[in-house]
Amino acid sequence: MTQPTRQAARLALAVCLAGWTLAAQSRAQDSSDEVIIERTTLTDHLAMLEGQGGNLGVCAGDEGIFLIDDQYAPLSEKILASIAEFSDQPLRFVLNTHWHGDHTGGNENMAARGAVIVAQSNVRRRMSTEQVSEIWDRTTPAASTAALPIVTFESEVTFHLNGQTIEVFHPPHAHTDGDAIVRFVEANVIHTGDVFFNGLYPFVDSDSGGSLTGVLSAVDMLLERSNAQTRFIPGHGPLADLQDLQNYRDMLATVSERIAEAKQKGMDLAAFLETNPTEEFDEKWGQAWLSGEKFMEIVYAGDAPQADHHGH
Ligand SMILES: [Zn+2]
Repeated sequence: MTQPTRQAARLALAVCLAGWTLAAQSRAQDSSDEVIIERTTLTDHLAMLEGQGGNLGVCAGDEGIFLIDDQYAPLSEKILASIAEFSDQPLRFVLNTHWHGDHTGGNENMAARGAVIVAQSNVRRRMSTEQVSEIWDRTTPAASTAALPIVTFESEVTFHLNGQTIEVFHPPHAHTDGDAIVRFVEANVIHTGDVFFNGLYPFVDSDSGGSLTGVLSAVDMLLERSNAQTRFIPGHGPLADLQDLQNYRDMLATVSERIAEAKQKGMDLAAFLETNPTEEFDEKWGQAWLSGEKFMEIVYAGDAPQADHHGH
């Protein structure tokens, strides 16, 4: 709260340049020289890193480094330097929370340093082929083989490293269809991936199998696994506590109900937007990145298939 302007600027930087599109990626690469990796130590074994793109989680100890996400390729050396200040152990694993380029851009560099890249199977599937985003009218080419996760899982996997139990689980059809949530059981810290944007409206990537309904379910999975002392490393935005996550859930649930009602009435997007569906939330959630209107535009069209549980 002491430096609201700086925090807002950092949020905007972290998210506006989020590089799951080619254009954003090249912008990120142009400005990567100025990026500073900031490290927040959470326990002796855990830290959060913020640079440009999705927030990183680091688990360090005698058995090696477990890294969650790796932002953009031009930042790999800076990220490794920041980790080296925290631990002198070698990098062993990188866990990708989903396929977007601001979370996987450093994979090839990290693999070259000996990391085993791990992700939900749909991350490898999507990174292996060209991805088209209709919402942003952008195409992302297939990643090189060296950047692909070489270990994949379907619904969950557990790591036992550095005295930590690291539970990784997959909420279906949330931010994408390949999301992973990473829970450090003893430390009571959860890296949420992009199912949680703290302080800004989330992007829900329906072109990649995501849905607002699925994000809400993912948030409920987080709430089931947390308590008042849990700390959350969100995909974007500052380190969060349980209250922050509950506020996010309340906002999502309210707009989700409004969307369902409007669809029942047969309203089109333009008519729905005239009702100011995000009015009371825009000041808190609509400043740093997506406006309330853009957020509604993204989820109004995209959520119908997953909202219908009678379909498949
Ligand atoms: Zn993302």
